[in-house]
Amino acid sequence: MTVHPKLPSAPRKFQNLIGGSWGDSQGGEIVRLSPAHGVPVSVVPRGTAADVDKAVAAARRRFEGGGWAEIPAASRAAILRKAADLILQQKDELALIETLESGKPLWQSVNEVTGAADLWYYASGQAQAMHGETFNNLGHDSLGLVLREPIGVVGLITPWNFPFYILAERLPFILAAGCTVVMKPSEHTSSTTLMMGRILEQAGLPEGVVNIVTGYGDPVGQAIVNHMDIDMVSFTGSTRVGRSTVIASAANIKKVSLELGGKNPVVVTADADLDKAADGIVYGVLHNAGQCCVSGSRLIVHESVEKPLTERILELMGKVRVGDPLVPENRVGAIVNETQMTRILGLIDQGKSQGGKLVTGGARMEPRAGYFVEPTLFTGVTRDMTIAREEVFGPVLGISTFRSTADAIRMANDTEYGLAATIWSSDLRKSMDLMRGIRAGRMWINTTITGGPEMPIGGYKQSGLGRETGPSGIDEYTEVKSVIVDLGARQPWVI
Ligand code: NAD
Repeated sequence: MTVHPKLPSAPRKFQNLIGGSWGDSQGGEIVRLSPAHGVPVSVVPRGTAADVDKAVAAARRRFEGGGWAEIPAASRAAILRKAADLILQQKDELALIETLESGKPLWQSVNEVTGAADLWYYASGQAQAMHGETFNNLGHDSLGLVLREPIGVVGLITPWNFPFYILAERLPFILAAGCTVVMKPSEHTSSTTLMMGRILEQAGLPEGVVNIVTGYGDPVGQAIVNHMDIDMVSFTGSTRVGRSTVIASAANIKKVSLELGGKNPVVVTADADLDKAADGIVYGVLHNAGQCCVSGSRLIVHESVEKPLTERILELMGKVRVGDPLVPENRVGAIVNETQMTRILGLIDQGKSQGGKLVTGGARMEPRAGYFVEPTLFTGVTRDMTIAREEVFGPVLGISTFRSTADAIRMANDTEYGLAATIWSSDLRKSMDLMRGIRAGRMWINTTITGGPEMPIGGYKQSGLGRETGPSGIDEYTEVKSVIVDLGARQPWVI
């Protein structure tokens, strides 16, 4: 078997970007090992709270001092388009480092980088489409103006599962709105965010608009969420840290947008095309080794088709190739780190001890140099089991059965989350009833985990606050100013 391309002989070293200057941090360095191969692949600064202070000051100077929010939207759009062009030109380099740091298959990283460029192109259009409103109906002597203005300095904190793609779902919209940014990627996957900083520099972005401080959640992430001079935090990650972000935001009442975890139901009705559904279900739970916020991890199937559907899923899970993400035939790569792998295996053990029937998988795989987990399937999952309630963030699917559509809706909604849901059905009435009844921000009917820059994303319940991408992607990063202009004589108040 050929391995393309080769592992790097030495890790690639990166620096932070603050106020237009690239530099190291007093905090030292973080060395990232490839989770699939166990070799060092990158070195990034281990940032400090002092770095965040400097980055916020630079972002504030640029926001107040001009050169970004005030320039014509057409000029901002041109820079965003140029950045998208450069992403495509540097696609292979970006994809390789993304794979080496995250463990995901290289072909998948290439798709994600290409998808990210689409988001940058779309957001460039949004820069020019952004507009306010007028109210010319307030009477002859009055005119009402509603302005959309950039919210200010945004703190952007991102996770490790789709580092470059999630960045593209947020950053170009933030920039299109005219905001300046201090961002912190995950400590596990910082390189492509730093490369994006370089790309923006090449695209002509004025210095200080984008500032990047890499490092751990404590202290870098915490310094961002606590900062008194940041106007808004956009956080994507776990519900646990999202909750602490909301609490921290109270200090200066900063706006918070959150994209958090999910425990996403997949409902299959008795009349569904089971072949199509089985392939979609296997993709939905194994894509990115199950480390997707929208992963379809709870299968709720009509009892009459549980057996044939389970058989099809088992067959496909047995066929899926898991292993070295640099080998093109592999569909599933490594788990991001040992902690996550241990957590997944622990949840599988709980599934077994709490009465779930393990039908396939459940163990760590070779090669032991990396963190690979077998595609895992449980049947007989009930609502009280931990694998039915907690986000596993691994390649683990649990199956439960339902009798009526009302049951299916109740089971699908029996979670504190509301991020995504998938329905497989050939019955229009049933699928619409399910779609209307399930409380989730993103849904798919007869497909799963697809999308595009046009569609808004975000969660109900404890899965988040606000919406990214689509037309709302830019609105999220604006303030609304309401202005009344009086054109007539003043009716004296003092008499
Ligand atoms: P995480 O919450 O541990 O980390 C996310 C980011 O927050 C990282 O950059 C991390 O360094 C930082 N961070 C950690 N502690 C912090 C703190 N106290 N203050 C501020 N920042 C802090 O999540 P993760 O393990 O990187 O990602 C997995 C989680 O993200 C899953 O729960 C997943 O569902 C969720 N996720 C959600 C979406 C979505 O769009 N809804 C997308 C991807 C991931």
